[in-house]
Amino acid sequence: ASQYPMAMTPNDPGWNDLAGIKEGPRMNATFVTLARNSDVWEIAKSIRQVEDRFNRRYNYDWVFLNDKPFDEVFKRVTSSLVSGKTHYGLIPEEHWSFPEWIDQDKAAKVRQDMKERKIIYGDSVSYRHMCRFESGFFFRQELMMNYEYYWRVEPSVELFCDVHYDPFRFMHENKKKYSFVLSLYEYYETIPTLWDSVKKFIKNHPEHIVAGNSMGFLSDDDGDTYNKCHFLAQWSNFEIGSLTWLRSKAYIDYFESLDHDGGFFYERWGDAPVHSIAAALMLKKEEIHFFNDIAYYHVPFTHCPTGQKLRTALKCHCNPDDNFDWKGYSCTSKYFEVNNMDKPEGWDTEEK
Ligand code: GDP
Ligand code: MN
Repeated sequence: ASQYPMAMTPNDPGWNDLAGIKEGPRMNATFVTLARNSDVWEIAKSIRQVEDRFNRRYNYDWVFLNDKPFDEVFKRVTSSLVSGKTHYGLIPEEHWSFPEWIDQDKAAKVRQDMKERKIIYGDSVSYRHMCRFESGFFFRQELMMNYEYYWRVEPSVELFCDVHYDPFRFMHENKKKYSFVLSLYEYYETIPTLWDSVKKFIKNHPEHIVAGNSMGFLSDDDGDTYNKCHFLAQWSNFEIGSLTWLRSKAYIDYFESLDHDGGFFYERWGDAPVHSIAAALMLKKEEIHFFNDIAYYHVPFTHCPTGQKLRTALKCHCNPDDNFDWKGYSCTSKYFEVNNMDKPEGWDTEEK
């Protein structure tokens, strides 16, 4: 039996016929990509895989966002590849610039210091705008306001298996608000005071912290210190989630509190830990989902589904030896423990 009520099984008619099948009602959902014009050929590869493995049967829309206007080549290439409607948005300047409370000299000193310490992207201004934008603004761009769910896709990612059901519908029917495929420990040097900031938010807004949350995923001492686990790996950027949740008062209060503390510029806070901590504290455990069956690669990590039968049925082309889930630096084992879940069959005795 399938794990998913709306999923097809290999015995269902149409399993091998990837053309023209649209099982179930469509959700109010979109793909979303933040990209530069120069990313066009790398995002083209990602789109091709998402379309082949999933979207050519569902034709969901795709929103592209950029801090500069998209050029004709970008629009022509991407719109020819996406089976749904494409939309191109220009990010307003106030969502991609320094807020007025940031001390420019202090921020510049940090960049210089991180450059000397060779911290990746440590001296980049645009990377910081990107992380702040993905943390607090992508979900409230005008083009995103009509949708309830998003699936974030980055340039140069791979999807290794067919997706035979609609993950958006899965999220909706199972009341999931956030999901992930890879989790790992954050690079500490980029977030030394993030947890202090989070604790301040918890103190000021206890009403936003839900009972039955995943604090145990983030902290090994009941919230005193952060163990640096996050779902959305800094180097993965896979997300399917609820835009309605990100637009909620709870999430906006959280983002604004963090944003005022300045760590997007005085350190180099990533959207990965920012989203993950929010999901772990402000959603119930059951509202977060691990998509074992969505096989995904973003340099340098692979999520290749555990379970040889599953990989065969889904025509996966990833090497299970590359699967990162059960390795030392992954937090996925911790996620399974916190949720009292059994690891998928084969996690310790994987056969190819
Ligand atoms: P990494 O995955 O953290 O190594 O960072 P990436 O370079 O992949 O950037 C994350 C996402 O933001 C990708 O979708 C990039 O295309 C996008 N991105 C990064 N910097 C910029 C920028 O300056 N402008 C725009 N428009 N997109 C950017
Ligand atoms: Mn990337």
